This record gives sequence, structure tokens and C-alpha cells, in this order.
Amino acid sequence: MPDRLVILGSKGGPALRPGGPWPSSSLLQIGGRNIVVDCGLGVTRGLVDAGISLKALDLIFVTHLHSDHVLELGPLIHTAWTAGLATPIGVFGPPGIDHYWRRFCQAMEFDIEIRIVDEGRPDIRDLVSTVEFGEGQVVEQRGLTVSALRVDHPPVTDCFALRFEHGGKSVVFSADTAFFPPLADFSRGADILVHEAMLEEGIERLVAKTGNGARLKEHLLASHSFAEEAGRIASDAGVKSLVLNHLIPADDPEIGEADWTATARKTWAGDLTIARDGLVVELSSTKAAAGEETA
Ligand SMILES: [Zn+2]
Ligand SMILES: [Zn+2]
Repeated sequence: MPDRLVILGSKGGPALRPGGPWPSSSLLQIGGRNIVVDCGLGVTRGLVDAGISLKALDLIFVTHLHSDHVLELGPLIHTAWTAGLATPIGVFGPPGIDHYWRRFCQAMEFDIEIRIVDEGRPDIRDLVSTVEFGEGQVVEQRGLTVSALRVDHPPVTDCFALRFEHGGKSVVFSADTAFFPPLADFSRGADILVHEAMLEEGIERLVAKTGNGARLKEHLLASHSFAEEAGRIASDAGVKSLVLNHLIPADDPEIGEADWTATARKTWAGDLTIARDGLVVELSSTKAAAGEETA
């Protein structure tokens, strides 16, 4: 299995629009592991479309508990279970992830109990272990290390960038964050930095559409990064490749890939990819594999 990153859902925020991209989720295949990072709506369908057997999932990470990153965590694991999952899954998330998982199982109790009896399945509650993490090293197993950095995403305080390393390869996810200079040190020399991004000219039109304009704009400016700020982090960190993700706005017909690229180019001259659902980035060569911008 080649090491690769698949962006399953590339938009920021929970809204869905006809034909548009889906909320945040990614698949990282590294060192023979299938690792899901964030579980926004659409993660299960995205994994299936990426050719992943749901039974082969073994690690899931959630960066923070905003719904566009966690809403489909329970449904993903439950669907894997009904697909025949019989091996343990580790779920790593901020404080509160255990509460989410236990309450999900309670909400689905009727179905879970009946399938155990009727279909002879193992108890899903025994297959899943949740680990609540904070800043620092999160995982060290079979050559895989994962570490976390608390980022700046008010009013959420438990929001963590994640760095995955295996066999000399490294991938960093910024999570949701305002411009946060310590991310550059955390991302130092990574093969891929997946950083969230907003585009200023799209924000006004976006907030006009949603009906709660002033409050939404305030939230966006306080807790998310502009594309040129993502580029600044990538430059300061000296990463090999930057993927702009969690795009806001993600589905404005007046904003295309060229606009994202032009803005990021103000601060970043290296390998650049603008995320879209289903995008594959091979980790072996650290080149975008889907015909994306690589200049
Ligand atoms: Zn988000
Ligand atoms: Zn968020």
C-alpha cells in the first residue's frame, strides 16, 4: 500500500449545498495504517469511494468537537461494524470524545443490541477504545508517532493540530486555527502541511447568504486563517508541500482554484495544491497526483 493522503471532504463549516463539496475529513495511509483525520458529514461515503474497506480502519483522530469535524464519527464506526468490523479501532480526540462515543452507543442501543443477538456480531462497544489527548505526544506504536499542538480556534480551546510521522515521512494537519506562528515550528520540514484557509473576497458574500452575517464574520476572522497566512506558515516551516483545505468559501461560483493559488502565492513559492473532495496526494514523491497545481 503506497503512502498517500486523500482529502475526503474539503469544505469548511457544516453547510451543504447542491453539488458542492463536503465537510472536513481526510484519510492518511502511512506505514500500512488507515488513519482517518476528522469525521465531518460524508466521511463514510468518502472512504468507500476512495476504495477503502471499512473493516480495515484502525485509527481515527478528531481535531476538535465542532460538528463539521465530528458529526459522522459514530455513524462511520457503526457502518464499519455492520460491514463486518471485527478488529479494534482506536479513537483519539480532545476531552469530550469519550462522552460523544458513549452517548452515540446509547442512542443506537436498540440497533446495537438486536444485531448482536440476531446477527451474532461482536459488541461494538468492546471494539472501540477512546483516548482523550492534550498537547504533546499522542501515539507511539509500530513506528508511527503522532503528536498534537493546541492551536488558536476560539471559543474552542481544545483544538489540536496533528503531526503524523512514519519511516521518515511526516504529514501535519493544522486543524481549524487563526494564524498561529507556533504551527511553523510544529510543521518543521514536513512532507505535507494540510492547512485550513479562507479567502477574504468570498467572506462578505458568504456571510450575506447565511442570515447571521455579523456574528459569523466575527467568528471567521477570530478563529480561521487566510490563504496567505497558511502560505506564511508553510514558508516559515520549510515544508515540502502545502495543501490548502477546509476552504471558506468552498462553493462560491465566483471563486476558483486560480484565486486560491494567486493568494497563497503571495507568501508561498513551493509545491501547492488546492484541496477538493477525492484529491489524492502521493506521499512517496510528495507530488499532487490528481492533476492539481504543482508549480
Ligand atoms: Zn471546521
Ligand atoms: Zn472548528
